[in-house]
Amino acid sequence: MHFSKIAVALVTLTPALAQRGNPDETTPDASCNTGPDTDPEAPGDTRRRALHDFSNMFKRHASLYKERARVDKRSGQVNFDDNCNEPVPSNSGYSGVFETRRDVLEAAYADAVTLAETSQSISPGARAFLHYFGGASPEAQLDHVRRMFTGIAEETNRFTIMFECSGTGGDCPNVQSVANTDATVGEAGDEKTIHICNPFWTSASTRYLLHRDDQEEPSPPFRPATSSGWCAMSGSNSLRNAQFFATAGTSILHELTHLHALASNAGLDGDPDEDNRAGTGDFQTGCELLGARAHLVRYQQNDGSDNDVASPDYNAESYAAVATELYFETLCGFDEVRPLAGPRSSSFATPSSTPVPVPSSTPAVLATATPGST
Ligand SMILES: [Zn+2]
Repeated sequence: MHFSKIAVALVTLTPALAQRGNPDETTPDASCNTGPDTDPEAPGDTRRRALHDFSNMFKRHASLYKERARVDKRSGQVNFDDNCNEPVPSNSGYSGVFETRRDVLEAAYADAVTLAETSQSISPGARAFLHYFGGASPEAQLDHVRRMFTGIAEETNRFTIMFECSGTGGDCPNVQSVANTDATVGEAGDEKTIHICNPFWTSASTRYLLHRDDQEEPSPPFRPATSSGWCAMSGSNSLRNAQFFATAGTSILHELTHLHALASNAGLDGDPDEDNRAGTGDFQTGCELLGARAHLVRYQQNDGSDNDVASPDYNAESYAAVATELYFETLCGFDEVRPLAGPRSSSFATPSSTPVPVPSSTPAVLATATPGST
């Protein structure tokens, strides 16, 4: 494998913090989170935010109790700075629906766990997987993806994090990031900070939560799993393209993959020039999910002349994107999320919209992809 040089290139750009968002774009989300069709909830439409009422507030509590319980199970693992007890910014779609920033982050974290659970045994033939992973060493990629998600889905403490909610911590003031994470080397018990940047509260890519049976409005931050919500279809496929499905949980999942302890446990090679740091990097450009699709194409088409294109299992958004896509594919019964790629191999002869269970033991062919192999 040849990831070391790639990781060095990343380190040059981001010495300590791995960021979500593209610093080359001044407004990374304004044009990203829209579908190919006319989007009735285009970014900037804030009128719907006022549509919550007391019945929604009442229903919200049922969801919140479940989500708080989920975070409580990770007591000591998932922590919140006192500044996360501040109210949600008034210009956010979460304002009036959630009281504090911590409330929103608990819901988003619970969503990240849900996304990881959905994909922890993802099939190598799943369309969602083939949209984001492939090229050289697909077995190693699959192994890394499954182990990364298992490390998030399980209640075993494979990492320890602190959400910091000042909105300006870390590198937040410098880029249009919604969040950034301390990706420096450490043990599972070392607390690493995830800074939640101000754009998190208003970005088109983070203003929605995953579907909840008991909460379908207001929108944002909720959508029903119907044709007027998440599940608009064209034929047997999603009407919307992948970018439409970016959620706050997608962003949190992205940030988690930057954590050294988690990525190291998932089998990612460390960068020998950076204390063997193993967390994922941000190698793609463009919008989040669509950018991850484009990254795979770039990786697969690389003839060796481009030293800066990392394997997708070293790109944070590739994980966030595949889990998000498989979740909505399963929720809505989509055969495929746009842009359509269609069958790519004979394994697609009988495509399934649900993840295929895999044996608990690691297949021998995957066991050869051990950390440190080069
Ligand atoms: Zn990132």
